[in-house]
Amino acid sequence: MIIQLDQNIETAQLGQLKEKLNNIQYKTTEVKTQFNHYIIGVGKKEFDIRAIGTLPGIRDIHRVSDAYKLVSRKWRVAESVIDLGDDVKIGGGNFQIMAGPCSIESEEQIEKTVAHLKANGVRIMRGGVYKPRSSPYSFRGLGIPGLKLFYQKCREEGIKIVTEVMMVEQIESMFDYVDIFQVGARNSQNFNLLDALGEVDKPILLKRGISGTINELLQAAEYIFSNGNERIMLCERGIRSYEQAYRNTLDINAIPILKEKSHLPVIIDPSHGIGVRKHVESVALAGVIAGADGVIVEVHETPEKAFSDGQQTLEFKEASRLYERLRQTSGFRRSIGLA
Ligand code: PEP
Ligand code: MN
Repeated sequence: MIIQLDQNIETAQLGQLKEKLNNIQYKTTEVKTQFNHYIIGVGKKEFDIRAIGTLPGIRDIHRVSDAYKLVSRKWRVAESVIDLGDDVKIGGGNFQIMAGPCSIESEEQIEKTVAHLKANGVRIMRGGVYKPRSSPYSFRGLGIPGLKLFYQKCREEGIKIVTEVMMVEQIESMFDYVDIFQVGARNSQNFNLLDALGEVDKPILLKRGISGTINELLQAAEYIFSNGNERIMLCERGIRSYEQAYRNTLDINAIPILKEKSHLPVIIDPSHGIGVRKHVESVALAGVIAGADGVIVEVHETPEKAFSDGQQTLEFKEASRLYERLRQTSGFRRSIGLA
C-alpha cells in the first residue's frame, strides 16, 4: 500500500496514521523524496482503504501488492519524465540518445566525441571513468581526473554526462561533475550503493543485472526511490543466457513489460546487448519499436583503438546514421499509434 501524504501533514496526524496501520499488523516505512512524502504499508490483512484514505493529512492511497511499490505503474499511471534541464528530457514521449565511448581515454578523445555529438544534435554523452572489468589487467578508467576533463569539455558545449559509479565512496567526489549516475549491471543489486544513490539528488540510470530478472530490476529501483530519489531510468542491456553466439541476450521483451509495470523511463543499450558492432544498429531500432524512451550506445572515432569494448563500438559515421534512423523510427512508432 502506498499512502501519499500532504506535504504539511502534522506530526500528530502522522502518528495517528501509523498507529492505525500498526493496529492491522501493517509494517510502515516513511519515505521522503525530493518531491513527495509517503508511507509504505506492507501487510496481509484485508481492510477498507477508505477508512485510512479519509484521515486528515492524506492526499492519496493505493493498494499495490507487488514487492516493488513506488516504481509501480499501478500507483502512478502517468509516465515519469526525467528533466536534466536545458530542454533535455527523457520519458513521457521525450526520446533521447546517449552516446560516447565505453571508457573516457584522453582529452583529445573527449573533444572529438563532443564535436561529433554536437554535429548530430545528441545532448547526452556517455563514458566511464570507473570501469568494471572482468580482468584486473584491463584498463580500469581514468578516475576523477578523467571525469573533470569530461565535465569541462561537455559543459563548454552544453552536453550532459552519464557515467558509472561503482562504490558508495565515489559518489561525493563525482557529484559535481555528473548529470546522470549510471549503476552498472554488476552493481544492479549492490543494495548499499542503491541506498546511497537514493539520497542523491541526481538522476540514476539503473542497468539490469547480468542474470537479473525484471522483478529484481524493479526492486533495485525501489531501493533508490524509497531512499528519496524519484529520478530513475531503467536500462535493458542484455542478460546472460545459454546462447554463446553473441555477448548477451538483449531482452527486447523487457521493454514493453517494464513500461507496463513501471512509470519509469526505459533505456535500451544495444552495444552491450548484442556486443557485435555490425548488429548494434538493428537491435537498437528494434528497441525503439518495442517502446524504449532512449538508447545508450558506444561510439568512438576509431573503435579498433578503443581502450575497452571496441568490438561493439560504432565509428562516427555509423553512429550518425544510427541517430538519424533512431529518430525516424521513434517518429514512425508514434505515427502508427503504438502506445
Ligand atoms: C558500460 O556501460 O560500459 C558497462 C560496463 O555496462 P554494463 O554495466 O551494462 O556491463
Ligand atoms: Mn562498455
